[in-house]
Amino acid sequence: MNGYPERRMRRLRQTPRIRRMIEMELPAPGHFLWPVFVVEGQGVKQPIEAMPGQFRYSPDGLIEALTSVSEMGIGGVLVFGVIPDDRKDETGQPACDPAGVVPQTVRLIRERFPDLVVFTDVCLCAYTSHGHCGPLDRRGNVQNDAAIALLSRMAVVHADAGATGVAPSAMMDGQVQALRQAMDAAGHAETLIMSYSTKFASSFYGPFREAAASAPARGDRRSYQASFADPRRALLESALDEAEGADILMVKPALCYLDIIARLRERTDLPIAAYNVSGEYSMLIAAADRGWGHAHEMAKESITAIARAGADIIISYWANRYEEVVGGAMRQAN
Ligand SMILES: [Zn+2]
Repeated sequence: MNGYPERRMRRLRQTPRIRRMIEMELPAPGHFLWPVFVVEGQGVKQPIEAMPGQFRYSPDGLIEALTSVSEMGIGGVLVFGVIPDDRKDETGQPACDPAGVVPQTVRLIRERFPDLVVFTDVCLCAYTSHGHCGPLDRRGNVQNDAAIALLSRMAVVHADAGATGVAPSAMMDGQVQALRQAMDAAGHAETLIMSYSTKFASSFYGPFREAAASAPARGDRRSYQASFADPRRALLESALDEAEGADILMVKPALCYLDIIARLRERTDLPIAAYNVSGEYSMLIAAADRGWGHAHEMAKESITAIARAGADIIISYWANRYEEVVGGAMRQAN
């Protein structure tokens, strides 16, 4: 291949129309899942301070918010339940309550927006008094097998309520297989499992922990979540979940882990979801607030990078703001 002066790369970048003919599109709204936080009550819409533009909703409040989200064509939601601290216990039992806020929300969405995809987060950390993802043993370690028994019950409750799929996020060994068996036995062979298969212990979850009130009271989650410094075992986690019957794999967070998404893309033919986490969302807004960048332009670049790395499904707090992000993109092109 000849270089300069025969080869001039700038020829292909001369005009917006030439560029647009060869560029990839921003992923369509149908590829997005919007993570939402639900609390009990009526008419609740509490701003989440660390995540501007995001709220904790009561089930009816969420239904109102979903009208515009559904009209935009966003694929669906990923539902997180938030309960008051005084209702939490040592084992996370309230997560399995069929009358809990998540099953209530799922039933309501099913009724009002039957087309939306509804995934539910399946983990115990928002329901345990200590904030870990399962019951603790005497030394303070999460008991793997006790946790998966509870997670299986929780998944069946969500499937009974009509969830399209469940999303186990506890990083317990064997949880995908346990959920599959429990849901099949309960007559939910059609319910999808989107596993948080490669989920890292990350410092980018801070704003989420405010939103879901799920910060561990002591210790951290490094004994069950993957290490950002150990990519091979992080990828093995996804391979094991695929073997256990996951329908969709996931990498979380997304932006510091584009290499992991790309490597997983080479290894699997299952769909890959990437979770563009709270810290990745809030830091763009914080920078923009200081005048250090345009939030929507940075969002567009982030989302394109995640898709370019190979993700099919993008779980992002930009989902309910998709039109603002596209608006920013159009300003840049014109
Ligand atoms: Zn958890």
